Amino acid sequence: MSKKKVATIWLAGCSGCHMSLLDIDERIFDVAKLADIVKSPVVDTKEFPDCDIALIEGAIASEEHLEDIKHIRAHTKILVSMGDCAVTGNVSALRNMIPLNDVLLRAYVEAPSNVDGKIPEAGKGVSRLLPRVMPLHEAVKIDFFIPGCPPSADLLFYCLFELLNDRIPVVEKFKLG
Ligand code: SF4
Repeated sequence: MSKKKVATIWLAGCSGCHMSLLDIDERIFDVAKLADIVKSPVVDTKEFPDCDIALIEGAIASEEHLEDIKHIRAHTKILVSMGDCAVTGNVSALRNMIPLNDVLLRAYVEAPSNVDGKIPEAGKGVSRLLPRVMPLHEAVKIDFFIPGCPPSADLLFYCLFELLNDRIPVVEKFKLG
């Protein structure tokens, strides 16, 4: 069996799902026998290549995320929502309860960490935020969902390993985090 191409992508998330993925530890060698990681926060390719499986952390919060997920969908056979932010919006979608302008004011003007007290202009170094954060399946077709905040390393390894072996994972048998 030829090796599959795998990507892992980070959208509006906290990186916790990727940290959990790193926790598969030495089982990465089992993955490496079956797959090449072709794009990931730790693989600095500029373009998103065609791939067999893409694990996506995080929700869609900006125009850039929306563009990215559509591009990824068009180049991926099995698209996986990895973690609760991708699956439901979760923590990333908490801002949906607050008007967008109040969110921007808080982040860029009122917060002690503000740089110059101005909301940056969208398109000039920052992408325009969408009015509402959404889970991935509201924007594109998702083939598989891995719940958890974050999903455990055991669950992530199990799902990835099954998909790499052309089997459908059964997430119900795992205790979710
Ligand atoms: S699901 Fe949890 S761990 Fe994963 S990106 Fe969202 S908040 Fe972070």
